[in-house]
Amino acid sequence: MNIETIDAVRKDWDTYFMDIAYMVSTRSRCPRRHVGAVLVQGKKLLGTAYNGAPTGVQDCLEAGCMIAEEIEMKLIDGKEQPIKKQRCIRTIHAEQNLLLFTDRTDREGSTVYVTDQPCWTCANMLANSGVIEIVYHRSYPKDSDKVVNLMVQKGIIFRCLNHFEPPAQAHMVVTS
Ligand SMILES: [Zn+2]
Ligand SMILES: [Zn+2]
Repeated sequence: MNIETIDAVRKDWDTYFMDIAYMVSTRSRCPRRHVGAVLVQGKKLLGTAYNGAPTGVQDCLEAGCMIAEEIEMKLIDGKEQPIKKQRCIRTIHAEQNLLLFTDRTDREGSTVYVTDQPCWTCANMLANSGVIEIVYHRSYPKDSDKVVNLMVQKGIIFRCLNHFEPPAQAHMVVTS
């Protein structure tokens, strides 16, 4: 392999860490959503986490998803309309597990790479966790406005990797 070929396949750091977040997400046992998150300080990987039930408790594959129904307002044809949405609430979100399994000192000044844009609760917790940057791939429009607003207030860099292509091994069939 010559230098040009090696450079062509060499991943930039964003791709490198988002690839890892996607591979981590394959550990999830919720059939509705696989989310992975990693903590990075400088170029050093300091933690990985995915969405899942607490250790030692039946997970979604064993006990089925724990479905909660919520009414959400959605803009349809220029009008706000109530839409019924079903969500699985059995799992601890990947970002929350990442906070449970990393140290505060490791998070200060660090970056979180997460496969999905954080929900409001996760964003709120991340905003108080010491991290200074959040990089995500898939959007989550439900909470996007208030999450973006929070990140601006906190001065946390909040970036979407628009052109990222998830690794083929991490593709899943989403059932919702
Ligand atoms: Zn589930
Ligand atoms: Zn969340």
